[in-house]
Amino acid sequence: MPDPASLSLDTALGVTIPSRHARGRLARIGPALDTILASHAYPPVIEQLLAEALALTALLGALLKDPGGQMTLQAQTENGIVDLLVCDYLGGQLRGYVRHDADRLAEAGPNPTLFSLFGRGYLAITFDQPASDERYQGIVPLEGDSLAQAAETYFTQSEQIPSIVRLAARKAESGWVAGGLLFQHLAEGEEGRDRLHTRLDHPEWPHVAVLAGSVKAEELADPKLPLDDLVWRLFHEEEEVRTLTPVPLTRGCRCDLDYVKSVIARFPPDEQAAMVGDDGFIRVDCAFCATDFPIALEDVR
Ligand SMILES: [Zn+2]
Repeated sequence: MPDPASLSLDTALGVTIPSRHARGRLARIGPALDTILASHAYPPVIEQLLAEALALTALLGALLKDPGGQMTLQAQTENGIVDLLVCDYLGGQLRGYVRHDADRLAEAGPNPTLFSLFGRGYLAITFDQPASDERYQGIVPLEGDSLAQAAETYFTQSEQIPSIVRLAARKAESGWVAGGLLFQHLAEGEEGRDRLHTRLDHPEWPHVAVLAGSVKAEELADPKLPLDDLVWRLFHEEEEVRTLTPVPLTRGCRCDLDYVKSVIARFPPDEQAAMVGDDGFIRVDCAFCATDFPIALEDVR
């Protein structure tokens, strides 16, 4: 049995309901989320948005079959307050950042709609599974009231899989907590099998969607409620519910100083010299972890 404490925070849990031909993922992030947000120092509205986006990233990443697989979620806009939001997942490691217009955000007040944040925006979701050499990208308009709704649209329209997605995030006294739930109808009912056909009107699906959809935001973002207890609350009347091995989630950035140095080393010496700032260092930023690396020219050459 997994340690119950570890099923409350920084973890993703897979679920299958065989008799209903459904699978699900639940995820909750706490300390990992705090670490990501702390490095950025965003205004509260942007922190809330990134917290929900990272909960969604954890849910989608937990769908990867390949342990070396990567999932990238990217929201791009035209004329939105948010210009770019990128999150990714690799082996349980999460990272993300948001580029936004601080002045326009301040004018929009404390509760801007998804439309005012993104304008005419698009959500691109990319699954990269190197082991099976699979790469798949789907793009949907960022419509509806929430990121969760956009993700549902992605699965329903782009992949033709009936899906329900719920996300919640809040800043508790102990720090940020975000959680999410994703359930999907699988025509063949089992994990890992290819879908042979899809029926959007499958009679078992609405039942699962109603139960999964009854989850409350407070439950998703409750740092003390273990995910398997939440599964029990939602689905205890089902004949059989299986949980998969939980996946620990951490904040992880893959910025690599040696790699950056090797890239700079390929530039001609006069161009390298031009990169050096007033402080005598070449400054390289990682947007994901908001880390600024000072690199001395003699370390590169
Ligand atoms: Zn980084």
